[in-house]
Amino acid sequence: MYLKIILLLISFNFLSCDNNEIKKKQKPNIILVLADDLGYADVGFNGSKDIKTPNIDGIAINGVRFTEGYVSYPVCGPSRAGLITGRYQDTFGFGKNPLFAPKDPNMGLPISEQTIADMLKLSNYKTLAVGKWHLGAHETLRPLKRGFDEFFGFLTGGHRYFPHEWDLEDETKVTNQGSAYRTKLLRNEKRIDEKEYLTDALSRESVDFIDRNADNPFFIYLAYNAPHGPLQATEKYLKRYSHIEEENRRTYAAMVSAVDDGVGNIISKLKEKGIYDNTIIYFLSDNGGRLKGDSDNGELRGKKGNLFEGGIRVPFAMQWPKEIKGGQVFDKPIISLDIFATSKALTSPNIPSKNELHGVNLIPFLKGDNLEAPHEFLFWRNNLMQKEKENRVEASAVRSEKFKFVKNKQVDALYNLKNDISEKTDLKNLDIDNYNKLVNEHKKWLETLKAPIFLGLLANKEYNKLNPDRFKN
Ligand code: CA
Repeated sequence: MYLKIILLLISFNFLSCDNNEIKKKQKPNIILVLADDLGYADVGFNGSKDIKTPNIDGIAINGVRFTEGYVSYPVCGPSRAGLITGRYQDTFGFGKNPLFAPKDPNMGLPISEQTIADMLKLSNYKTLAVGKWHLGAHETLRPLKRGFDEFFGFLTGGHRYFPHEWDLEDETKVTNQGSAYRTKLLRNEKRIDEKEYLTDALSRESVDFIDRNADNPFFIYLAYNAPHGPLQATEKYLKRYSHIEEENRRTYAAMVSAVDDGVGNIISKLKEKGIYDNTIIYFLSDNGGRLKGDSDNGELRGKKGNLFEGGIRVPFAMQWPKEIKGGQVFDKPIISLDIFATSKALTSPNIPSKNELHGVNLIPFLKGDNLEAPHEFLFWRNNLMQKEKENRVEASAVRSEKFKFVKNKQVDALYNLKNDISEKTDLKNLDIDNYNKLVNEHKKWLETLKAPIFLGLLANKEYNKLNPDRFKN
């Protein structure tokens, strides 16, 4: 009898050990929330006074606010290509905003590239892409072919927000670049009849996915198109900002508010499922605000489309309550490419990368194990958008921990960003050594890049001439 009880106790002890062990080793869920064209100063955690983002701010409060968080390009498509591969996108020729061209297998992310979802699948993650894709509309380039188990959203670089405006059944009804904003949404490979305001639908689908996958490590790439144009919001969100007189700013604020509610719903669901602590949430924008009377980049010079800080430095925060101390402000430069490298280090450190990664694992820096700057240099190249000047460089920039070299139509300058965040004082003539050093680093980096492999958004007419069957069935 005693022996039986002892054996029972021992086996029970083993079982509970196993459970604890499993829990300890459980890989973190990863949720990557991307806003579209959100200005640096348009979130509470970066000082917005008129737009309230309590849920998004919660990520920075419970985790880390990156004051110098960058993306790898100042417009949507190439920035997303960098983010999703963890590589400078010009390395593989994704140097322009792709056109909507569902018949063109070369208009989008080359299949030689591994996405973050492909990589996480190696560790048995369940993966979901929600929202804006913009990495290719050809059947070989769509989310389910790029590592995602599920997809809910649209393939273009933007979309209209109200369901009654989605009056095109599918891509075969699209007759020009702009009308691609009006297709019905896709659930996996099927067009569906959706009834909700777009931002709310994207949030709902993310919450539902968490509900269904809480027992398995998962990855959600939640790419809201808000607050990218067209400026459209529902009364529910508009009435929160009835005090803002300027109409564009009011609607923009309402659109950001819808995103904030979505983040709140996601966090509530994580808590309900008991997986909040071991879920990493990132929040960032794909590029800076466009400053057309709606967005606000604060003290930063420049805007979407250029290589001043306003184009490439974005609102950026992350949390992982189980491992990363909350309330941190991290003020060394980091970049969206680091999300891939960090995810890989946490999930499959021993599997060789398919391609060379250009980001770094941020965790040792956030835990205080490494006090250096994560990057010696960050690099940018802005490719000219017009066909006639194809493949010429429009602007260049390099960032070291302290300095930035930027060359564009307006300046050829060296700035000390630690005391000149607005890029006002050119130090080139005072510090020619540092200037030359950064210029030389940029030259070396350029040699690793490819020319853009497809025509961009602004070459729409040229592309149509070369591809007269683009919208023919
Ligand atoms: Ca964008």
